[in-house]
Amino acid sequence: MIVQLKKNASEEQVTAIADQMSALGYKTTRVATGNGSYLVGIGSKEFDIRKLGHMEGVADIHRVSDAYKLVSRKWKVERTAIDLGDGVVIGNGDLSLMAGPCSIESEEQVAATLAHLRENNVRIMRGGVFKPRSSPYAFRGLGIEGLKMWHEQAKKAGVKIISEVMQVSQIDEMVDYVDIFQVGARNTQNFNLLDALGKAGKPVMIKRGISGTIEELLYSAEYVFSAGNEQLILCERGIRTYERASRNTLDINAIPILREKSHLPVVADPSHGIGIREHVEPVALAAIVAGADGIIYETHQSPEEAASDGQQTLNFGESARLIEKARKVAALRQTF
Ligand code: PEP
Ligand code: MN
Repeated sequence: MIVQLKKNASEEQVTAIADQMSALGYKTTRVATGNGSYLVGIGSKEFDIRKLGHMEGVADIHRVSDAYKLVSRKWKVERTAIDLGDGVVIGNGDLSLMAGPCSIESEEQVAATLAHLRENNVRIMRGGVFKPRSSPYAFRGLGIEGLKMWHEQAKKAGVKIISEVMQVSQIDEMVDYVDIFQVGARNTQNFNLLDALGKAGKPVMIKRGISGTIEELLYSAEYVFSAGNEQLILCERGIRTYERASRNTLDINAIPILREKSHLPVVADPSHGIGIREHVEPVALAAIVAGADGIIYETHQSPEEAASDGQQTLNFGESARLIEKARKVAALRQTF
């Protein structure tokens, strides 16, 4: 059960409502985000809803049968949109594109990527400065100095930044220089990180775990929401299956299922999803047909020389073609 509280509800009123929920057999958690205040009740006892409905401070009561609550669509049918400012919104019905290298490498690379994005009217750039790498000997990113350099250029270009945060201590370092925190597939169940991102005050995109279920991804989002941040985006980035012909298996099924189960925007990452440059485009287009609110993919001026993930990274020509086709498919989708 979710009890939405009135904006002006007093402390005494909230305490009285929480006490009543406990008396009705519900374990209660209080949640306050930038958008609203809620009491989340965990329990299953039947009760007369009027026992809460008449109380001062209650704005609305929703019975939510899902195990995750705040991210469920059962209480919020209208879709959540994430407003990054300057007219950049994710989840408002338009297709969002986020593109950039796997890793931020140099000033020149950032400048070239920003110019490519500007030319194609892409408003969000991706890139890692803290890189989770399978091998400790692989390039692990430029770190916070790289992010500052990138931010300076991106700000001038009017382009927003999404970048991966790997640990709690990086949140404060990064917060002034990112528009969206990315939680990577290896950190989807880093519950300390998710809790801390609840207090970050910036949008968070959570990738599905490498072997994570759809429900586990929703629980991870619930962590961030219940810790105080409802500016959330879900990302299907492929899961590990028995198939070895591709790096991962992008689970197209997850896109309509996540959109049915949650009000949060759903983005697909075809680059990590298939891991093969030649096939990124068709997988991206399929994800759009399946209903994705956005696509995040890797592009680099010279993928062969990329410091990481070159094998799945589009060059700028391929990227421009994908952007054009993606927009065509998104326009076609509007007519369905
Ligand atoms: C990335 O976006 O470059 C990345 C490391 O992604 P994932 O966490 O999905 O592997
Ligand atoms: Mn990558």
